[in-house]
Amino acid sequence: MLNKQILVSYGDQAKKMTEELLKEIAVENELDKDDLIALKPNLINASTSEKGATTDPQIAAALIEYLQAKGFKNIIIIEGSWVGADTDNAFKKCGYQELARKYKIPLYNLQKSNYRKKKVFDMEIEIAEIALKVDYLINLPVLKGHCQTNLTCALKNLKGCLSDQEKRRFHRMGLHKSIAHLNKALKQDLIIVDGIYGDLDFEEGGNAVKMNRIMAAKDPVLLDSYAAELLGYHITDIPYLEIAAEMGIGNNNLEKAEIIEINKDQAADINYNSSKIKKLTKMIKAKNACSACYGSLVHALKRLDERGKLKAINQTIYLGQAYKDREIEGLGIGSCCNKALNFVKGCPPSAKAITDFLKNQNM
Ligand code: SF4
Repeated sequence: MLNKQILVSYGDQAKKMTEELLKEIAVENELDKDDLIALKPNLINASTSEKGATTDPQIAAALIEYLQAKGFKNIIIIEGSWVGADTDNAFKKCGYQELARKYKIPLYNLQKSNYRKKKVFDMEIEIAEIALKVDYLINLPVLKGHCQTNLTCALKNLKGCLSDQEKRRFHRMGLHKSIAHLNKALKQDLIIVDGIYGDLDFEEGGNAVKMNRIMAAKDPVLLDSYAAELLGYHITDIPYLEIAAEMGIGNNNLEKAEIIEINKDQAADINYNSSKIKKLTKMIKAKNACSACYGSLVHALKRLDERGKLKAINQTIYLGQAYKDREIEGLGIGSCCNKALNFVKGCPPSAKAITDFLKNQNM
């Protein structure tokens, strides 16, 4: 797999989608048989993945089965939940204890690890020793919003490899520079993102948006730059992307990316219980809409709301396959609605494309 590539699979069948991606990636070509391979999910707390905070264990299950079938035996799972949450409890509630038992894989609670200080430019960072020892690190972040950094995905997920004390220090020093430095100290070799459910704006979950995709990449900066646009942000809204690019960790120029969609999303019933999301989506008319498309629109409306521009929208917003080839008096989202008076291209369009489109309408 090339550094410039980002593979995208749409749907919500985590195991099957990950298996399909792994066949495309052929990760075994990058590994030696005795390599110590670590999977690093995001288990920020003890909640199941559909709440929008943690990584679906079926992604890890697909990876372990794939690697074991190719003869790789040294596989471990490493994670340290956020300060105040108990990682052992998260392993149990999120389904990873069960995985460990089934596949005979050790779990490493990084809140109880030995740590080593690693110097990166002017910073010394205390990182779990086992994370520094692995030969091949597979990062399994969740695509979701974050209350301080706007986005959390590949680069920020490595914060789970720090001691609790170091996590607190990162917050005191400011997250952006710290996250970039951490990624200089600890290299991730492959990233598989759980983008099926991810929270609207808060890393702890509770207002999950169904974005219906799993993505794979090797460059965490390029991937996070793409992820930023999927949530409706400009790359400059997440300062650690530029700092990480300047430090040579990866590329934040999306024009250089090769996005490969290995399938298309399917129309689904859209049903959100979150009152926060229901409030945002009052002006939407959706019929046979794909979850990926609807999720992009939810994020776009949230970004407009944060900027005080949501109230200005006084037209109905249409999306879904039922509007194909129909004249629409209103705003259309995606290629299905290309007969609307005004519409945004894409299938699905990113939240950034929708945000830019909606804010430029004369409403
Ligand atoms: S444009 Fe239509 S087909 Fe494409 S993602 Fe949106 S709803 Fe689905």
